[in-house]
Amino acid sequence: MRRGKRERVASVLGRLNVLEPMGSLGSRVQSELPILAYHRVVDIGVESDFPFDPELVSASPADFRAQMTYVRDHFNAITFGDVIRSLDGDHELPPRPIIVTFDDGFLDNYTNAYPVLRDLEMPATIFVSTGYIGSVETYWYDRVAYAIYRGPAGPFVLGSTRFELTDVASRRRATADAIRFLRGVADPVRRAHLGALEERIDCTVREADRHLSQAMDWSQVRELHDAGIEIGSHTVSHPALSQCDDETLAFELWESRRELETRLGAPTPVVAYPFGGPGEYDGRVMAAATQAGYRLAASYISGRNLLGALSSFELRRLHVERYTDLATFASMLQLPQLFAGAAR
Ligand SMILES: [Zn+2]
Repeated sequence: MRRGKRERVASVLGRLNVLEPMGSLGSRVQSELPILAYHRVVDIGVESDFPFDPELVSASPADFRAQMTYVRDHFNAITFGDVIRSLDGDHELPPRPIIVTFDDGFLDNYTNAYPVLRDLEMPATIFVSTGYIGSVETYWYDRVAYAIYRGPAGPFVLGSTRFELTDVASRRRATADAIRFLRGVADPVRRAHLGALEERIDCTVREADRHLSQAMDWSQVRELHDAGIEIGSHTVSHPALSQCDDETLAFELWESRRELETRLGAPTPVVAYPFGGPGEYDGRVMAAATQAGYRLAASYISGRNLLGALSSFELRRLHVERYTDLATFASMLQLPQLFAGAAR
């Protein structure tokens, strides 16, 4: 998660202002479809005071506005629906298309990101985990982050790993390791571990902190949909799909699509795999997504998509993180090959 060499190179290139002429050279860039991936857009204040996972914060509202202004000035924002219409031959994509996406369905997408998109008259796509929409329940990975952040100092064991909780840094490290571990075990085991973890640490999310990690409700999702924001599926309960048995896998894909289509009265042809790394989806998951009626699916693997040769069930995305400065952001869009291949 730390800034790597390529981010530093990209940032320098951006500052040297060499990207405009490179980007405007044209045909290569025009044949690509960059897809930006955000989670949360929020000011987290003092990071060490934030009781949920700061890694899910992609940008502050001010940074997001600057990034979207850059996008509006250099690209044409489209939706996955536009891509599908173009694949079907019913629609011609504009030059330099781009898709802006958000995963999970956090309330701040509505309160902080949507006003920016509305001002700039840009569409975007929000992938929501339908089981959390309108629920007071905190997303499970943020429950893990919270329990580890708020829990008492000392050791705790998860699987075969013993964690030692002391300062905030040790808790953030433990959070990342614990979530990585839970993504990699069979889904029923993950659920059992989650319950046991909260019980052992004796720490469920306090009422006063709930608003810091909250999903949208259905009226907000409907309002966004009516305003031209595309709503995609992010399953029902946000499991690592590769860890689900066939029945659960089908349920997660079908049920989220059914609920979205019932609630919004519109087709839901696109899904983003939860977590979306190479360990969290595979051929079985892609086949199940096809069978569940999706036309496109987004992974969370970093990289480029070539129009005309789209990997429709493993679209790649470009990750925006809270430490992505505008120069890095610009180079990521103009030189996506620099960012190819990394999963979060
Ligand atoms: Zn997600």
